[in-house]
Amino acid sequence: MTSAQRTRRNSFTDSPLDRCGEFRADPAWLAAQCGSAGARWLALDAEGRAPVRDGRLCWQDAARVAADSPANFLGRLDGSPLFALRDPAAPSSVPAAEWLDLRNAASVLARFDAGLFAYARALANWQAATRHCGYCGAKLTLVDGGHRALCPSCGRMHFPRTDAAIIVIVEYGDACLLGRQATWRPRQYSTLAGFVEPGESLADAVRREVREESGIIVADCDFHSSQPWPFPASLMLGFTATAATHDIRLADGELEDARWFTARDIADGLRSGALRLSPPLSISYRLIEHWLRTRAGLELATLPRAP
Ligand SMILES: [Zn+2]
Repeated sequence: MTSAQRTRRNSFTDSPLDRCGEFRADPAWLAAQCGSAGARWLALDAEGRAPVRDGRLCWQDAARVAADSPANFLGRLDGSPLFALRDPAAPSSVPAAEWLDLRNAASVLARFDAGLFAYARALANWQAATRHCGYCGAKLTLVDGGHRALCPSCGRMHFPRTDAAIIVIVEYGDACLLGRQATWRPRQYSTLAGFVEPGESLADAVRREVREESGIIVADCDFHSSQPWPFPASLMLGFTATAATHDIRLADGELEDARWFTARDIADGLRSGALRLSPPLSISYRLIEHWLRTRAGLELATLPRAP
């Protein structure tokens, strides 16, 4: 399986949406999309929640959205231009919908709807955090359907920010390295992760993060898959790695505990309740699933779990 095929299994990926990035800078083209009979709008409330009904996002048509409502252009899907309303006061009511945040919605939404919601949230998160020019302090003006922010004072263009973070399953012999932070649910363990630093390659970030958090020296690593993670602005870059050393030292204080788990340790822990893993929404789950399948022939989804 290639990394592209593995990425397709991750949440929020592989959207059939055409983002139409080559047209967004044309105001006349955008206005035509907005006025199209098939145009649909997604409302996010002040907390960033979206309306969900029967496992689908609830889109509104032109009749329910004021023509001058500021909106972000998402792209075109099956001939319909899709927008996300930018004004939290705009949504009014959506009949019989449940307003869910992205984490809760992702577990009930159809796959591509979850990706569209993640995309709308990622854009909104960036806009909420990028109101003023970082060079001269002037208030920014959103352009290109919300995908750029122009400074009217110094003329600089600001682009949406995405924070790259590596996440890695490290292997030594027949075991993999999982750790936990003190703030997590009791008994929950996950693969190690951290943000990529300025001037750093992804492989260097893998080596540094694993050494900082666990004291383990990484011998080699390989790219596994990626996943957008708009909580608020991350792009998770998943890796598999092999360790050159075995002795764990919790060096930087980020982890409360880190241990080597064999496939049997994971299966027994899930069955007894002594171990909890991140939900399938997360790339951590996919990395552990991949490791169990390739190293032990176990399917994570079908392993018995304590109630
Ligand atoms: Zn400026």
